[in-house]
Amino acid sequence: MAEHLTEPGGGVRLYVEAALGSAVRVAPDDGQTHYLLRVMRAKTGDRLSLFNGRDGEWRARIAEVSKRACVLECETQTGQQQEVPDLWLVFAPVKKTPADYLAQKATELGVRALQPVFTRRTIVTRINSERMRANAIEAAEQSGRVSVPDTREAVTFDKLLARWPAERHILFCDEAGDAAPVADALQDAPAGPWAIFTGPEGGFDPVERALLQALPHVTPVSLGARILRADTAALAALAVWQAIKGDWRT
Ligand code: SAH
Repeated sequence: MAEHLTEPGGGVRLYVEAALGSAVRVAPDDGQTHYLLRVMRAKTGDRLSLFNGRDGEWRARIAEVSKRACVLECETQTGQQQEVPDLWLVFAPVKKTPADYLAQKATELGVRALQPVFTRRTIVTRINSERMRANAIEAAEQSGRVSVPDTREAVTFDKLLARWPAERHILFCDEAGDAAPVADALQDAPAGPWAIFTGPEGGFDPVERALLQALPHVTPVSLGARILRADTAALAALAVWQAIKGDWRT
């Protein structure tokens, strides 16, 4: 979050769950209250921005401050609600890079949903989904998004594929074999909903590759000759997808 409230061109943006609208009053949660009152030393009359993923962006003023609480009041709408492109990141969590980091960076890159998946070679056994969501919220606040990506509970690979929505295309990051270069594959690929799949430290196993390749809309792609760490692969694929199929052109 920015250093000063009401800073020209910058300032504090907060994600809230509550509905936003003209003259609507919102109570920030405990963490936000602490941040506003103790860290930013906010005073009555200071201004900040609010968004909730549904009602666009609103300028709000701090209407009341007491010792441990404050009330924010929406003034004017400063931005329309906008969706990011319909792109999910399905990633096998890895040991060295916490899902938190990936959640932050993928949010900045404009992902719509984050789906951790336990593949056969995944070593990590638990994902702290609350922390993943907190990281996604913070990154949405910082990056000027008016939406927070949907952070999903981790599922096993087989379960995920068994109920895969048939119309959603899959960009399968495949370091083995002779997959097409990612930019070439995307250039010719159809529009519509997509998901990027990246594997764990040891890659996808043969059973998983077979399951993936049996789906109707799967495009195996190469991200070059070098083996990337899983987090690098995920972020690189997101960037290429946004540049070619996503909203980097608009
Ligand atoms: N099996 C590999 C490492 C996997 S890297 C080995 O040990 O040799 C982790 C994941 O990143 C892979 O499953 C793949 O989804 C993605 N990845 C890494 N480098 C890639 C590349 N050059 N092209 C496509 N995908 C890549």
